[in-house]
Amino acid sequence: MEFVASRIASLNPSMTLAITSQAKALRAEGKDVCSFGAGEPDSDTPDFIKEAAIQALNDGHTKYTPSSGMVPLREAISAKLLTENKLEYSPAQVSVNCGAKHSCFNALYATCDPGDEVIIPAPYWTSYPEMVRMVGGEPVIIETTEENGWKITAEQFENAMSPKTKLIILNTPNNPTGAVYTEEELRAIAEVAEGEDILMLSDEIYEKLVYGDTKHFSVGSISNTVRDLTITVGGFSKAYSMTGWRLGYTAAPASIAKAIDTLQSHSTSNATTFAQFGALAALNGSQQIIEDMREEFDIRRQYLMGRLGSIPNVTVAEPQGAFYALVNIGKMGLTSINFAEKLLSRYEVAVVPGLAFGADNTIRFSYAVGLDVIKEGLDRFEKFCREH
Ligand code: PMP
Repeated sequence: MEFVASRIASLNPSMTLAITSQAKALRAEGKDVCSFGAGEPDSDTPDFIKEAAIQALNDGHTKYTPSSGMVPLREAISAKLLTENKLEYSPAQVSVNCGAKHSCFNALYATCDPGDEVIIPAPYWTSYPEMVRMVGGEPVIIETTEENGWKITAEQFENAMSPKTKLIILNTPNNPTGAVYTEEELRAIAEVAEGEDILMLSDEIYEKLVYGDTKHFSVGSISNTVRDLTITVGGFSKAYSMTGWRLGYTAAPASIAKAIDTLQSHSTSNATTFAQFGALAALNGSQQIIEDMREEFDIRRQYLMGRLGSIPNVTVAEPQGAFYALVNIGKMGLTSINFAEKLLSRYEVAVVPGLAFGADNTIRFSYAVGLDVIKEGLDRFEKFCREH
């Protein structure tokens, strides 16, 4: 007797988690594993954010808020989107969700009917295609190349379209490639979306982590018409080291925001109330903490790039944002899973196989780990690449 619903039975479990648990098991055996698997900043949540949540508990904020989040937080998000991103969404168009993962899921569930096609540029964040399948949609994957900085062009987008296309998922800065789309590139993509009335889900969770001269640009800020086709996703996990708090948000056209509110009111209800107070403090407090973290990541990024550049048989397009580098292992003649397993079992270095991101010729390094681990891990990685 099969009790599991077919819509779940056909999904792939998260590969990111599989390699992390193998690495944990080796560590438990006393092995000195260098793990590049982290999908979260290695610093703790800043004290002033924790204190605001503790204060909220002590003040008795232990009850429900409106299902899309408490009004002061939605107002603060709306104000932040206007001043930082030039995005005009009213507080009523903002919905606070249980992590940006939940925000993406809600956005897809609220917009996609069974059979609708959703365009996803690869390499992609591992959860997008599975989420699209969960809501009954059809993922349509567009391949990008390392030479093109792992970015799709407007032309590729146009060619992937069919009468069933409902939405395209854009993720900038990108997990796993670190690619950041320029304003010009996004304008070209938005023009295609506008021409065909295609929705854009713009996942901007890594917006604060961009390096060098690179600037983050929000596609919805192009014009009111483009904004009315855009669901912007943001959150607190990466910028404020709040992954465990489970807080993200959507800002969407009014009818979609209302649909997300209805969906959320019958599924999770509001994100945890005292956590919302922490998020409010994060937005209202000093943003210096973000800058400090960004500078630290940039030092690691530069070190990583310097080392990877001199390792034979692998190549890497310089990541401009987030905290990942996607290394091309195509010349090594191994699948990404074989490569990652060998690297872990022989050299005790954990990376995420690119198959998880729809790019089997790659592996992903996260540099949300200390510089000492990065140095040691790269020594071992270099040995592996030279000896293989
Ligand atoms: N989008 C992308 C591209 C991500 O990498 C992640 C986290 N790995 C999320 C969304 C989800 O973030 P959260 O922890 O807030 O759910």
